[in-house]
Amino acid sequence: MDCRHHIFCHRHTQPRRRRITRAVRIGIGHDTHRLGPALPLKLGGVDIAHSHGLVGHSDADVLLHAVTDALLGAAALGDIGEMFPDNAPENRNRDSADMLRRALERVKAGGWRVVNVDCIVFAQLPKLSPYKDAIRRHIGELLEVPADCVGVKAKTGEHVGPVGRQEAMMAECVALIEKVDD
Ligand SMILES: [Zn+2]
Repeated sequence: MDCRHHIFCHRHTQPRRRRITRAVRIGIGHDTHRLGPALPLKLGGVDIAHSHGLVGHSDADVLLHAVTDALLGAAALGDIGEMFPDNAPENRNRDSADMLRRALERVKAGGWRVVNVDCIVFAQLPKLSPYKDAIRRHIGELLEVPADCVGVKAKTGEHVGPVGRQEAMMAECVALIEKVDD
């Protein structure tokens, strides 16, 4: 007998509850760097052709720094400044991709893996649309996820504020991580 027609059927008088057993965490990252003339510009680990570049102790990749902070935040592992102090000589001109890899190692050591990230780069110039796919692929490789798990959006500063006046670039990122089943 089909128990859907049985009024006292236990299975259908009790609401079915799907227990979510997978633990997930979300993290947010934000970063700002000043722009300076005749400096190399790297965003998301990709070289960008531009008259100006970002000023910083490391290679100043504002986007990878935001991604790194989002990842560390999701796992409650502090922030990029604690992990890589900007007064430490070994961090001078440091490759930000290396910093992100090391942060990911710490996150993975805690039993987590990345589900997806979504990022925004705030830059008045240059237009980033020609670079977006390369940036998504590269961040995906660094985070060990497919490129379709990496969102990259670009916003101008509408010619106002430090971004709009081309004094700075900013980046924001949210990251979702999940506990790896053992
Ligand atoms: Zn930074």
